[in-house]
This record gives sequence, C-alpha cells and structure tokens, in this order.
Amino acid sequence: MSRVYNFSAGPAVMPEEVLAEIRDELLEYGSSGMSVMEMSHRSKDFEEILHGTENTLRSLMGIPDNYRVLFIQGGASQQFAAVPMNLMKNRTADYINTGAWTKKAIKEAKLYGKVNVIASSEDQNFSYIPDVDDLPVSEDADYVYICQNNTIYGTRYAKLPNTKGKLLVSDVSSMFLSEPVDVSKYGVIYAGVQKNAGPAGLVISIVREDLITDDCLEGTPTMLKWKTQADNDSMYNTPNTWAIYVCGKIFKWIERTGGLTAMKERNEKKAALLYDYLDQSALFKGTVRKDSRSIMNVPFVTGNEDLDKAFIAKCGECGIKNIKGHRSVGGMRASIYNAMPYEGVAQLVSVMESFEKEH
Ligand SMILES: *Cc1c(COP(=O)(O)O)cnc(C)c1O
Repeated sequence: MSRVYNFSAGPAVMPEEVLAEIRDELLEYGSSGMSVMEMSHRSKDFEEILHGTENTLRSLMGIPDNYRVLFIQGGASQQFAAVPMNLMKNRTADYINTGAWTKKAIKEAKLYGKVNVIASSEDQNFSYIPDVDDLPVSEDADYVYICQNNTIYGTRYAKLPNTKGKLLVSDVSSMFLSEPVDVSKYGVIYAGVQKNAGPAGLVISIVREDLITDDCLEGTPTMLKWKTQADNDSMYNTPNTWAIYVCGKIFKWIERTGGLTAMKERNEKKAALLYDYLDQSALFKGTVRKDSRSIMNVPFVTGNEDLDKAFIAKCGECGIKNIKGHRSVGGMRASIYNAMPYEGVAQLVSVMESFEKEH
C-alpha cells in the first residue's frame, strides 16, 4: 500500500486511523452480524449511529438546544434552492458575492425572488473578502447570505458581516469543523461534508428552530422543506446511512484529538508553514490578499504556466497529488483540511524549496 499526500479540494483526505476503524468494522458492525451498509435505517443499531453522530457534533460545536441538525442529501448545491424556499417570506434576500459558490447560490435564489448583491469581490477575481462592517443591508431582506470559506479562490471571512439585525445564512462547506464557532450568530449554517468532514453525498444543515416552518414558498418539494427533515429526524426517506456513520467516526476523531480549539491550532500551524514559505519565495506567490487568506484552501502560482505544469508533475513524483489549481485561478491549490497531517504540508514546502532552487 502506498498512500499519498492528497491535497484535493473535495472529496478529500480523511484521517487514516478513521479509515482503518471503518475497515475493521466493514463486515460486521459491533455484534450486529452485518455491515452498516446492509442495515435498515429503521434498525436500533442505525438509530444509535444517527443519534451518536448528532450528539458528538452538538458537543463539538456547542450547538444550542434551539437549533436542529438535519442530515440531508443533494449536496450543498441543493441547499442553494432550499435556503430561499424555506426563508424567502418577503421574496427578497441580500447576498455577498465572493466566488463561484455564491454565484451559483445567487443564480438559484433568483429563481424565487429578488436578490440584492450588497458586496462583491469580483472586480479582483475574488482574491479578497469585501469590507462587511457597514453593508447596504436591504430593509425587506429575509436574510443575508455568505460563503464563509471560498474553496476555489482560497479566501475566508476574518469576521462575520454586520447584518444589521438580519438573519445570517452561511455556507461553511470547506471550513466545517476547522475551528470553534458560535452557532448562535447564525440563522442557518450548512456544509457539504465531503470537504472536511466525511464522504460525499451528505449535507448537514444546522437551522434555528423558529425558521423551520410550513410557511415555505408555494411549490416547495416535500423533501426540500426543512420541516419535513426535522419532523422525521432526517429519516423522511432513507438517509445516506453510510455517510452519517463515517461522519460520526470523524467527529469522534476530532473530539479525542482535542476538539475544535486544538483543531484550529493545528490548522493554523499548517497554514502558517505554507504561507510563510510563499511570502519569502522568489518563485511562488499566493493569490489572495493577506487579510482574507483561508487556512483550508491555499492557491498559489509561479506566474508562468509552463513552470506551474512542471511543478505539478514534480509533486506527482514526490507523493503529492491533486495540487493543480482550479481553472478559474490557475496554478496550484493546496487544500489542507483537518485530516492533512503537518508532515504533508512540510513535504509540499520541501518540494517547493527544491523546485525553486532548480529554477
Ligand atoms: C464544494 C462546495 C459546494 C458544493 O457542494 P456539493 O455537495 O457538491 O453540492 C458548495 N459550497 C462550497 C463552499 C463548496 O466548497
């Protein structure tokens, strides 16, 4: 077996000890006589898995009692529609446009109502987070929407926007569980788990209870109503049982390695190693304004496409995979999620150093 350092943006690296635990339980979970994949979602064993996953998440994030945790399929992209369908009572919402994922969310919300883009960083290819202290928040806006960590452009909000009393909705897919969070500041937080918390096919939406009502937009499909999911404990239909099980394992791993405070410290240390190298390098440079840098996704370039290609090829020979940047930024992108060990980033920096000497 030869596992590489996988810098993929998602689906992405998972903790090796969790993968081993899953392997050990693959044929028989506990004394159930079967694999989790073969279990009825209505069985006692699976109900325990579901509630265990939720309870660990609640304790990790300190989720207040008046928030519901929903395990939904359809990915983060389906929440782009679910958010307006469940929240647009006035048919108006304010969005901050910080990249590809908010563009898609905006496009979707426009199907249902009026969308005001109250700030944007599109003028500089989304390389920064706009100033959000004094935004022109619309009086009749049902919510203010942000993507808190922009997976493709490598930007992240250093602080939350002042929404002037309006509800805050945040897509945290690529920073989920990377640091402590004050859930009470949000109306809705949601994340596709395949970036930082599990396998593909599951989105976790954490929704304040009073926002879960039958008063959705007319024509909202039953499955897209948060109330359907909440009333049925995320089991209106068959949920993604496997992903819920794996997430539970990863949440436990975070818990036993020190919780979100320790996770943040490790993540900052990894990111600092890479950014410090970038800041002094004569060849490589980061593409994001310093005050907006993500500690999860780090895009960088040499400024020369042929050199970028040669570097990516060299990485491949040195056990580093999926380092190619997204086409809208070019160059390279290192996604250094929770499960990326410090040694992986150190290996990347050492390959950058030797490449820089050669060129
Ligand atoms: C990956 C990603 C999405 C889309 O997730 P899907 O589960 O593929 O729909 C949405 N938002 C952000 C920030 C992402 O990184």
